[in-house]
Amino acid sequence: MDENKVIEEIEKCLDCKNCLEVCDTYIVTNDLLKSPNGRLKIAQKVFNNNEISQEELTSLYTCTLCALCDSICPQMIQISEVIYSSKVKLVKENKAPLDIHNKIINGIIEKDNSVNGNPEERLNWLAENYKETEMFEKKNSDTLLFLGCMSSFRVKESASAPYEILKLAGYDFKILENEPCCGEYVYSAGNIDIAKKIFKENIELFKKIGVKNLIVTCGGCLYAFDKVYRKYFKDFDLTVKHIVDVIYDLEREGKINLKPLNRTITYHDPCRLGRKYKNGPLFSEPRELLNKCGLEIKEMSSNPKETPCCGSGSGIRGVDSSICISIGKKLFNKMETKEIISSCPLCVFNFRYVNYKNQTDKDSKYITDYILESMKK
Ligand code: SF4
Ligand code: SF4
Repeated sequence: MDENKVIEEIEKCLDCKNCLEVCDTYIVTNDLLKSPNGRLKIAQKVFNNNEISQEELTSLYTCTLCALCDSICPQMIQISEVIYSSKVKLVKENKAPLDIHNKIINGIIEKDNSVNGNPEERLNWLAENYKETEMFEKKNSDTLLFLGCMSSFRVKESASAPYEILKLAGYDFKILENEPCCGEYVYSAGNIDIAKKIFKENIELFKKIGVKNLIVTCGGCLYAFDKVYRKYFKDFDLTVKHIVDVIYDLEREGKINLKPLNRTITYHDPCRLGRKYKNGPLFSEPRELLNKCGLEIKEMSSNPKETPCCGSGSGIRGVDSSICISIGKKLFNKMETKEIISSCPLCVFNFRYVNYKNQTDKDSKYITDYILESMKK
């Protein structure tokens, strides 16, 4: 969003405070600075070239960029875009991001991942029998299963199960032995220059190894490849699909056979597969697949478009973990089941973290766990 548009958006605010009702970072902190309206006022200072306090800077970086406020504002202000643009401006002026972001960005540059994973352990999730026969980028396929940092290192079953499901369905794809980070974390932190460098290197890599289609497992990777890469590189013309979308098609084509598991679960819609998915949203596909696995779904909200963020979007756990623990606890309190499923490994990881920190007994799983179990039954 250019500067004039940002100022125009900020000036549309009527101060009605409707947006406070949906913003979980405000609801759990009761701090106006951590509300959409409060953040717009901080953005106004940023774009008027006034100094902001450390507290105000932190407030911009505790926004999950979930975009829920955008959908309720009567003035249709693109609040989350304004907040994001403020971060970009502050980074350009060397006033942001925070130390934690710089540490993680340095980790991405050094280790090619945003979660401080040991690059030598990237493929630990790959079963030995597959390791022996896997040809990685040398394989003659134009479809890349891009697993992402969270699936490769922290929620490894969200790498291994999609891989195995595609193998069992006879799908033609390849994976990388040394996969890079998609760059979404750097972009979200507002550091456009480094993010664009990462995007460019990845586009060159995909071109070099003949990739025309990307399948991703993570909402962050989906958002980056589907929306952000295209914004900065007009010639980026790869098809980008989430694994749920691919499995959905395979099941309809009869290449996957699902058998009933007979359980009751809660399904959580990740922001980046819903409200923020340019070519989506993916609301009905995961639910239909889970129903076909014989799972009864309990909903947390009547409209999936209104599902709140899991509490860790845009890297806020590193900035203020207490907010993400409280948001997760609020979500857990709404659940009628023990198990919660998401199609994003970041949500799964956050729910496990929240469960541990709050000493609750919730089980959090990535969607393909159930699909694979149902296929193998
Ligand atoms: S809902 Fe929109 S107009 Fe109302 S306070 Fe929030 S940003 Fe301003
Ligand atoms: S994007 Fe989400 S977290 Fe950020 S201000 Fe809006 S509702 Fe709150």
